[in-house]
Amino acid sequence: MSNLAPAPTAETCLGEPAAAPVLEALPGRLTDLGGLPIRRLLPRSQRRLVGPWCFLDSYGPLTFSSGKPMDVAPHPHIGLQTVSWLLEGEVVHHDSLGLDGPARPGVLNLMTAGRGIAHSEETPPENGGRLRGVQLWVALPEASRDAPPAFEQHSALPVMGLDGGLATLVMGQWGGLRSPAGAFSPLLAADVSGWADARLVLPLDPGFEHALVLLRGGCRLDGQPLSIDTLYYLGCGRRELVVDSEGEPRLLLLGGAPFEETVLMWWNFVARTTEEIVAAREDWEAGRRFGEVPAYGGPRLPAPPFVARPVPRS
Ligand code: MN
Repeated sequence: MSNLAPAPTAETCLGEPAAAPVLEALPGRLTDLGGLPIRRLLPRSQRRLVGPWCFLDSYGPLTFSSGKPMDVAPHPHIGLQTVSWLLEGEVVHHDSLGLDGPARPGVLNLMTAGRGIAHSEETPPENGGRLRGVQLWVALPEASRDAPPAFEQHSALPVMGLDGGLATLVMGQWGGLRSPAGAFSPLLAADVSGWADARLVLPLDPGFEHALVLLRGGCRLDGQPLSIDTLYYLGCGRRELVVDSEGEPRLLLLGGAPFEETVLMWWNFVARTTEEIVAAREDWEAGRRFGEVPAYGGPRLPAPPFVARPVPRS
């Protein structure tokens, strides 16, 4: 995905982990991509990071019989990984390394931007007529953010049995399992399915901060019914989470060690200084650094205007 509505200035994102368990609800902010509803869950002014997770868009559900609901022309990224995970439908990725792959339910598309990559994402001509998924970005830590760009696809992710359900481990380590997807700091992303009307128990690492998003179905947490596409920030210090299923909930569990670095986000860039953002923007506009995505049949996205405002020290 491309950040559809970037602010004209960079956004300063620092971790503000709650040391003890909390329950903060952040309803997704609705935008629209040519008829495809998208809910922005991160970053938000109230919370910008959960561990290294710095961006989360949830899109769909959408049923369509014609057209191309996802059509994001080539655009650049630096300093992050993009995690594309679908519940329904198909999205094809093409990038400036010449790699491609269709993401579909159960198949993770993971792109490491490092010092710079460009990609497009679109609904393929042959599709199931439905679309529902999430896209997440992981901020890369200082030691890894100039890593060479890479694209990985994983269709054999670990599955963990839980009291009251099961989970696919998309990224990171959880309960003795490790996702084969490459990660650069301690983190967790899991797609959790609860059995109908069961008590679902999720073991957690108390050193991580966590967040939970209900993607479909219904459930309660601490007696409170959860809303779909709302980010529930949970803080640190939890050893487990007990969710009461109502129907068969589908949940996204995110976690990570509190991210110690302050990052600057603008458009599709995760950086540390405005100078880096200016340089990346100029390189994209001049056709440098990022390469081309010849497999995409159309023009690339132009960079929006950027106002390099002094960034307050944090
Ligand atoms: Mn993108």
